[in-house]
Amino acid sequence: MKSDTCRVCGTPISKFMTFGRMPIANGFLMAEEIKDEYFFELAPAFCESCNMFQLVEQPEPEKMFHGHYAFYSSTSRYMQAHFAHFAASVMDGPLAGRTDPFVVELGSNDGIMLQNFHQRGMRHLGVEPSVNVAEAARAKGINTVGAFFGRDLAGKITAEHGQADAILAANVMCHIPDLNGVAEGVARLLKPDGVFIFEDPYLGDMIAKTSYDQIYDEHVFIFSVTSVARAFASHGLEVIDAEPQITHGGSMRYTLSPKGARPVSERVAAQVAKEHEQGLQKPQTYLGFKRNCETSREKLMAVLETARKDGKRVVGYGATSKSTTVTCYCGITPTHVQFISDTTPIKQGKLSPGAHIPVKPYSEFTRAWPDYALLFAWNHAAEIREKETAFAAAGGRWIVYVPEVGIVA
Ligand SMILES: [Zn+2]
Repeated sequence: MKSDTCRVCGTPISKFMTFGRMPIANGFLMAEEIKDEYFFELAPAFCESCNMFQLVEQPEPEKMFHGHYAFYSSTSRYMQAHFAHFAASVMDGPLAGRTDPFVVELGSNDGIMLQNFHQRGMRHLGVEPSVNVAEAARAKGINTVGAFFGRDLAGKITAEHGQADAILAANVMCHIPDLNGVAEGVARLLKPDGVFIFEDPYLGDMIAKTSYDQIYDEHVFIFSVTSVARAFASHGLEVIDAEPQITHGGSMRYTLSPKGARPVSERVAAQVAKEHEQGLQKPQTYLGFKRNCETSREKLMAVLETARKDGKRVVGYGATSKSTTVTCYCGITPTHVQFISDTTPIKQGKLSPGAHIPVKPYSEFTRAWPDYALLFAWNHAAEIREKETAFAAAGGRWIVYVPEVGIVA
């Protein structure tokens, strides 16, 4: 679906750069499927009217989610801890002192966040369209409805359970092209003094770190406080808090409430001022980002070409969706990266989308240490470095590209 107008405000938009022909980011495939591989143009645009950063073209959902099994959030210990803190901040914050509060989470995955409310005996409901993870949540006793959220579902939930005291979402809102439809549903489902709290990768971090791999088919938007405030204002919701998070390489947690219902934190104006200072409202900033992406690509390919000429073995670490943008945009091939190590069984034995680098089990990485590991899962760098002490002890080095290209111990 190509859009020549802003998905939020309808103003004409055009791409400021292109990452070129791109496959489905999560479309790991068998060799015999290469001939049918689907491509689209991955190109971002910036709406000068409402400041929303967005893709101009997004593949049809059935292409992106064909045979797609969402990964289980609960496999990361760090993410478990993150969501336990997130839930605690909601229970001790906006829900404190409320009688029998009701919490809804959009894109509740395997219940990694809602289990914290469930354990406290709170009324909760997860909305999760991916069948496999919704099943995993139900098995843990977490109430989950398998559906896409919008105005209609909001009406059904309200009729059955009443309005929500809190609606939560993590790494979900930036995936939904019909942001207005979801905002309308949220406005309908929320109590007059309820809160809607969501977090997603943050535009300010992406621009500052040149972490262009945040841009791939599923991330139709990259939000800022300014763009979120404008998008939700037309639905009667205002941003009352904005808190930076370190997750996913830099995220922002937005708290919204029906306009005038709750006090607005000073952090909101402070963050908007910071965005202005960073130039997030200026088209030139995005042309600078484009140049930074090109420089990053040149440097990374120079490192990989040198390693190849020197006969070094390079293995990719983490067959993430975001790595598809990097391999395809930079032109990384199996001559640069022998294989990508990944612990997800469904990806193993397949090829990476577009670049067709084999994906192998993690045991292949530990069996014979490579000279270099290209850290695709850089947003989990702390957790990974802690785990891979034997690789480092064997003299292995990491090739990184965010925020700078380099080889690190
Ligand atoms: Zn717009």
